[in-house]
Amino acid sequence: MKLRTLSLLAALSLALPLAAEAAPAQAEADANPLLTEFETPFGVPPFDLIRAEHYLPAMRDGIAAHKQEIEAIAANPAPPTFANTVEALERSGALLTRVRLVFNAMSAVDATDEMQRIANESAPLVASHVDDLRLDEQLFARVKAVWEQRDALGLKPEQAKLLERHYKDFVRGGANLAPDQKEELRRVNQELSVLELEFGDNLLAETKGFALVLEGPEDLAGLPQAVVDAAAEAAKARGLEGKWVVGLDKPSMIPFLENSTRRDLRQRLFEAYVNRGNHDDEYDNKAILSRIAALRVKKANLLGFPTYAHYALDDSMARTPDRVRDLLGRLWTPALAVAGREADEMRALIAADGQPFKLEPWDWFFYANRVLGEKYAVDPEALRPYFQLDHVIQGVFGVCTRLWGITFVERPELPKYHPEVKVYEVREADGSHLGIIYMDYFPRATKRGGAWMNELRQQSRVNGQRVAPVVTNNGNFTRPTSTTPSLLTLEETLTLFHEFGHALHALLANSTYERLSGTNVAVDFVELPSQIMENWALHPDVLATYARHFKTGEPIPAELVERVTSAAKAGQGFASVEYLAASLLDLDWHALSEARGPSVPPFEARSREAMGLIPEIEFRYRSTYFNHIFGSSMYAAGYYSYIWAEVLDKDAFAAFEEKGLFDHDTAESFRRNILERGGSEDPMTLYVRFRGREPEVEPLLKKRGLL
Ligand SMILES: [Zn+2]
Repeated sequence: MKLRTLSLLAALSLALPLAAEAAPAQAEADANPLLTEFETPFGVPPFDLIRAEHYLPAMRDGIAAHKQEIEAIAANPAPPTFANTVEALERSGALLTRVRLVFNAMSAVDATDEMQRIANESAPLVASHVDDLRLDEQLFARVKAVWEQRDALGLKPEQAKLLERHYKDFVRGGANLAPDQKEELRRVNQELSVLELEFGDNLLAETKGFALVLEGPEDLAGLPQAVVDAAAEAAKARGLEGKWVVGLDKPSMIPFLENSTRRDLRQRLFEAYVNRGNHDDEYDNKAILSRIAALRVKKANLLGFPTYAHYALDDSMARTPDRVRDLLGRLWTPALAVAGREADEMRALIAADGQPFKLEPWDWFFYANRVLGEKYAVDPEALRPYFQLDHVIQGVFGVCTRLWGITFVERPELPKYHPEVKVYEVREADGSHLGIIYMDYFPRATKRGGAWMNELRQQSRVNGQRVAPVVTNNGNFTRPTSTTPSLLTLEETLTLFHEFGHALHALLANSTYERLSGTNVAVDFVELPSQIMENWALHPDVLATYARHFKTGEPIPAELVERVTSAAKAGQGFASVEYLAASLLDLDWHALSEARGPSVPPFEARSREAMGLIPEIEFRYRSTYFNHIFGSSMYAAGYYSYIWAEVLDKDAFAAFEEKGLFDHDTAESFRRNILERGGSEDPMTLYVRFRGREPEVEPLLKKRGLL
């Protein structure tokens, strides 16, 4: 489960070049590189020229230019047609899209105070602009007129989908509402855009603001040398040379929780993590999230839905909250039973140690690690030497080459936004250009946590020419130290493969329209291409190609792989329960039917009790730091998407297991029917075309050991 951010403009659907008539004055363009098309190799952003002060003026110009384009479409005296209305709308707003895509990506990798200020200033501007567009009656009347004639227009399937997409975007944006309701919706959207940003900013401040400072050797008890070294480097970065620092980002926190024998320090760290945004201070998120929940109910009600979950899921593959709860329910009971057995094993270890305490959430990681060591003889830290970052990258490249013949060529000469970033050109089997990927894997002081992909330019076709995508993959993986290269954990290795799958979805996209291209799909379908990649990462045939010891070059021993893969099932009770609990909490927050935000602690406690979450396990995200659902609306009532997509990815990967891990026909079919098609057809239709039938849930249950 990895955070993935998408352009807020995905819903606004704008295409590329062709903004010629809206071109700004030449003098201004000279000064602001965002205002003209990028004159760079492959059209990558000219990062060497872009400065923070360029964004806001460029966004203002982009909004103004888009407004002019829209006015021209709305006021066109010719009768509305697919070309002069829907296609014209699709091709409008190119400048704004260009600026927003770059800004969204850069504000996540370099969230300086200035970038946060720009985000706070621009979010309401963009939200208001989106509302102006969605609520423009003249424009909507034309779109609706085309929609009503749709059966008589002889549209190709992709065109029909584009029309449906735009029409639906208008209706979901309030175009059918009465004037006073439109005004109310506009106020709601404005307030939401500000609150969601504030939520994320507070979380970032809370995460970066905490440091567990380890003063002396007694505080390091139980920690492997690599963890000690990383903590020493972190201390140095904070000006605390000679001490050690553990932070709340997962690469720092998890190894400490797994290994430290200092139970008091584990508790302090864990409690700091789960109380982010919950200190009743300037960074507290309780009032903010409660208000967000209330505003979303208001929005859903205005648009004719009883709850926000009904509104959000109406545009998903799952369709209704009931179908989501059905799936979660099928998994919850077996997952809880397995987690209960995991807890029993840990209690037995605590008792065998003669310890008097009861198992608490801050003990879970430590004893889970002990179980791994004692039952499976696996020490996660002992795996790291085999997962050197550069080798893992070659590993994922190799999988893609074997599946589709595509290749990767480093392009160090292209402009970068940070010297640590590596840039690769992706080439088709015949050597032609497919796209560009920026790979950015280390934590920095101003970088957001987690891992994600972003699009700097989305694929489309303009006048028959393919506009090639430019994407990023971002992570917060273990940094190299002065003595060792970056060595990844298993989890980090999987995350890298995961985000690379999102990148492939964008890079292999083959649509005419940006609005239907690549990752512009339903939220519960978007994780299929990413999650399926994780299945290759740990397969013995693939490990053999990249998992080599960073010092000796020896391949990872087959027997170790065997133990690792059986141990991978070991923590599945916990992993499933913490994830499913967060998914249920998300659904509960969005099942409110009255626009009154409840008090957060009792609400969360009731949710916890209703689902029967055991006290030894915490929600994967508690409300005050559940950025997926409160930091933007993208995963609101949609956090279940990862498991929904996992049903798909396990069932889809089973096709490769049946026919061969690198079976040419299966790989081609997956590429042509899923990866290239984006949102150009109903996701279930696409899936059935690949698999020959609807997905089955058994492969997922089997993989997670929940059968
Ligand atoms: Zn993802």
